[in-house]
Amino acid sequence: MAKPILLSVDDDADVLRAIERDLRSHYGAEYRVLASESPEAALDLLHQLKVRNDSVALLLADQRMPKMDGVRFLQEARDVFPEAKRALLTAYADTNAAISAINEASINYFFLKPWDPPEEHLYPQLDDLLDDWQASYRPTFEGIRVLGTRWSRRSYELRDFLARNHVPYQWIDVELSANDPETKRLLEALGPEAANLPVVLFPDGTKLLESAPAEVAQRVGLRTRAQTSFYDLAIVGGGPAGLAAAVYGASEGLHTVIVEREAPGGQAGMSSRIENYLGFPVGLSGGDLARRAVVQAQRFGVEILSPQEAVAARTEGSYRIIKLADGSEISCHALMIATGVQWRRLEAPGVDRLQGLGLYYGGGATEALSCKDETVYVVGGANSAGQAAMNFAKYAERVIILVRGDSLSSTMSQYLIDQIQETPNIQLWTHATVAEAHGDKHLEEISVLCSDTNKIERVPANAMFIFIGALPGTEWLADCVERDERGFILTGPDLLWNGARPKGWTLERDPFLLETNIPGLFAVGDVRHGSVKRVASGVGEGSVAVQFIHQYLSKV
Ligand SMILES: Cc1cc2nc3c(=O)[nH]c(=O)nc-3n(C[C@H](O)[C@H](O)[C@H](O)COP(=O)(O)OP(=O)(O)OC[C@H]3O[C@@H](n4cnc5c(N)ncnc54)[C@H](O)[C@@H]3O)c2cc1C
Repeated sequence: MAKPILLSVDDDADVLRAIERDLRSHYGAEYRVLASESPEAALDLLHQLKVRNDSVALLLADQRMPKMDGVRFLQEARDVFPEAKRALLTAYADTNAAISAINEASINYFFLKPWDPPEEHLYPQLDDLLDDWQASYRPTFEGIRVLGTRWSRRSYELRDFLARNHVPYQWIDVELSANDPETKRLLEALGPEAANLPVVLFPDGTKLLESAPAEVAQRVGLRTRAQTSFYDLAIVGGGPAGLAAAVYGASEGLHTVIVEREAPGGQAGMSSRIENYLGFPVGLSGGDLARRAVVQAQRFGVEILSPQEAVAARTEGSYRIIKLADGSEISCHALMIATGVQWRRLEAPGVDRLQGLGLYYGGGATEALSCKDETVYVVGGANSAGQAAMNFAKYAERVIILVRGDSLSSTMSQYLIDQIQETPNIQLWTHATVAEAHGDKHLEEISVLCSDTNKIERVPANAMFIFIGALPGTEWLADCVERDERGFILTGPDLLWNGARPKGWTLERDPFLLETNIPGLFAVGDVRHGSVKRVASGVGEGSVAVQFIHQYLSKV
């Protein structure tokens, strides 16, 4: 924990050195002692300390300084650190000025120069002041702080990224906390830079303005570049299927890398509670599952590049090569595609424009708290929508699930339907389709087409979360990998047409189960044609595929 600061200011270098020495010798173990030869520089320094989230316990200033006297400095410093104790150093001749400063400028104490011996004339009085300060001192947050606004797409993306990558941070909504004095002081200390939101403040005092996930990823040590250019097994996608394959592959001696575009955990990482995964009778959150899986994979030496996207794939002899979004390439003997599915877009006017501004695809784990006491709309009738509704119901005043059909029974698991029915602040709005999203700077209203009455109802809405099914994003593989008409990847027996092997297949065997039309290139989990869209099945496929990879590698 960073020590609180004692700052002394005096334009007389000898006096400054003496006070610094005495403060350090007596208080150095518990406090950081800083000194400044000018009040202007000291004010600058205080602004920097405010941005770093440091605590200042004491300001000690000489009264007679050329451009700004001690009283004025202490008054200005009070705007930045109001809780710090303020004391003046004065000559005997200035005693009266010091006494009136105590009364008029809320200065806590004055010391006469010289203060020798300090054991008599300095430390006892300072001990009192500092004891007083300690009584109301609460250590400040020492991690990353993110300043932004709820109605900003960039702020949302950044927070979502940090949360999904398990990077702890403190969120400061500069609009919501506009009246909070500490936020005001921080914004003043930042000056014009505070306009470049989102601003990320790091504990070492550095900052990123208008920051994007990739920049922050580098600063917090997330790895986006591969350590070597060749691996036994490269896995694209760090959801349950990719992570399971990595754990099995690496634990069985394969040099393994995962390339993950957003954050390890995939869709499962967005789930607020997975209740049907074996071994967790009371369920576990997707975030927790992802964190455990990442630790497990890293323990076996798996390299995880995130955020990093695979944008193309090709083969060169027995090598499988993927091109990454930053232009670099990774080659491997066996390549696994575990890229899952992405949310299907809701086609309605206003939806694209307001995405990230009150309208979100998926769980919006970071948004649940912001919806406190509001009405939240959840669009969709599958399990993912049901879980999200249950999660939002903990914070929101009301959750309304919009479904096109007349019930949830054909699309949602019974255990979730039961939970929803027992939750009084969740309502089901059947025969309902979102026809339009309205709002200027953020979502304000939605128009809902009611298919039973054929009327459109326009209702106020600040938060809407969309869960309307998903599609695989496999266009980047279209040149080499066989896919079905919706883009899901064909594997194993699905590639055999009337017993004939896929075009260009040269081996004297059929493709393995989970192997694509390219030998050594496998597809597992939700991205695979015919897969069961569940965490357990993804994990199962990822693990089983490693056995086929061993067989494939034994013949390469
Ligand atoms: C909200 C929600 C709740 C759910 N709840 C449950 C539940 O309770 N029980 C259950 O069994 N299932 C549940 N599911 C379904 C389950 O999460 C999925 O079936 C499972 O996550 C699929 O795993 P996967 O590894 O195949 O793909 P995904 O989890 O989709 O992971 C794929 C990963 O690949 C990455 N990726 C995609 N393209 C690229 C690229 N080009 N380069 C790099 N990376 C890329 C993505 O960012 C993603 O992280 C839920 C899903 C959702 C969305």
